[in-house]
Amino acid sequence: MRSLGDGSEPMGGLANCARCRRTAPGLDAHESLAWELLLGDDGEFAAVVCPDCLTGTELRMREEDTQALLRRIRRGRALE
Ligand SMILES: [Zn+2]
Repeated sequence: MRSLGDGSEPMGGLANCARCRRTAPGLDAHESLAWELLLGDDGEFAAVVCPDCLTGTELRMREEDTQALLRRIRRGRALE
């Protein structure tokens, strides 16, 4: 399992928006909740998209994903 820890490690595709290449906030930063996390085929986070690049469909899906992620964080197993 990959540790996202304190965000100080390089995270490859997670470091910039996949579309406009804007620098992403750390995954533990509050602003990152507005970003879309894209999962790769292996179920790991593979890329991020900034709020300005999201489509309407993605924004709606993100709302659902964010709620699910928050539930997992509260259970302490968001990154398992
Ligand atoms: Zn972008």
